[in-house]
Amino acid sequence: MSITVERINKYFGSFQALKDISLDIPDGKLIGLLGPSGSGKTTLLRVIAGLENAESGRVLFHGEDVTPLHVRERRVGFVFQHYALFRHMTVAQNIAFGLEVMPRKDRPSAPEIRRRVADLLEMVQLAHLAERFPAQLSGGQKQRIALARALAMKPQILLLDEPFGALDAKVRKDLRRWLRALHDELHFTSVFVTHDQEEALELSDQVVVMSAGKIEQVDEPRALYAQPESRFVFDFLGHVNVFSGDLQGRRLQQSEGWIELPEDTDGEAVQLYIRPHELRLQDEPAAHAHLPLRIDSISLIGAEVRLELTPCGWQSEEPWEVGISHAEFNRWQPQRGDRCYAVPDVGHLFNCE
Ligand code: ATP
Repeated sequence: MSITVERINKYFGSFQALKDISLDIPDGKLIGLLGPSGSGKTTLLRVIAGLENAESGRVLFHGEDVTPLHVRERRVGFVFQHYALFRHMTVAQNIAFGLEVMPRKDRPSAPEIRRRVADLLEMVQLAHLAERFPAQLSGGQKQRIALARALAMKPQILLLDEPFGALDAKVRKDLRRWLRALHDELHFTSVFVTHDQEEALELSDQVVVMSAGKIEQVDEPRALYAQPESRFVFDFLGHVNVFSGDLQGRRLQQSEGWIELPEDTDGEAVQLYIRPHELRLQDEPAAHAHLPLRIDSISLIGAEVRLELTPCGWQSEEPWEVGISHAEFNRWQPQRGDRCYAVPDVGHLFNCE
């Protein structure tokens, strides 16, 4: 079921939390709402769910205006960060609860409810825990039960608010893959809130980047990373190395540092943004770049070694960052205080003026 959000404005007192938000979410897609704390992600999700009323604008499901409908009538599934399971009910009773309180005319029969609960437990791979109480479950298990409970109502739209926010890194990663697989199998339309860039990029078909109550950009993860439309998006999606200078012909120069731009660079390049993986480090300057750096710190971060570097003879607002492989680290054996030169891949320079 598709979701259309049309010109939503939402205020809390005099504070405007959502500013003229419009968004089209196609049927069957998994959409991530990504943005810093306070950008309005949860509020937008709650407006879609009907938990929050907006001052103006409309929400449509499959082309039908659901704005006047109460949350219950919208029939969306909802999963919160903090499980919200009933403590005094077993896992099976938690999953069945929503079905059992349905009006008599809509309620499935008792054997049908039992069958549906068993199927859902199977699907979230927790059938062996049916008779446990929430206090006897791990965080990851509780969240899978919360998801099963939301799915018991067979919603065509599933809304998830930081569903993995309270879990540790390893469990988060597993659950992400698992949610993606479940989504691909069941094809409901899902919207999830996260402030974790990696999570949004890994899990979503499309990412909606929000900032201060507005949408900054909507795109597929790869496009968002490769073609950010604003400095905000560029910065928010990972570290960026910035070089600013004056353009003289094709050469962008700042004190002793310079980069020669490719001929087809258009516009007045004043600031270049370079992702850490879009440059190499070497002992000598390259023909097209003279960017001396000093190594300030070396840290092992999972699969790569991250170097933090300070410009020498030119300046940058923030230190530069470069990730190198363990193999390269072992070959080169860099030490703190060493000097080297950055060689940007000129095909990937991003001019953000
Ligand atoms: P987070 O990642 O921290 O949850 P968010 O992007 O989800 O942030 P929202 O929770 O949507 O942000 O909040 C957006 C803004 O609206 C914030 O400045 C918040 O303080 C404000 N806000 C949210 N709910 C209320 C409320 N019930 N009353 C007053 N202000 C609110």
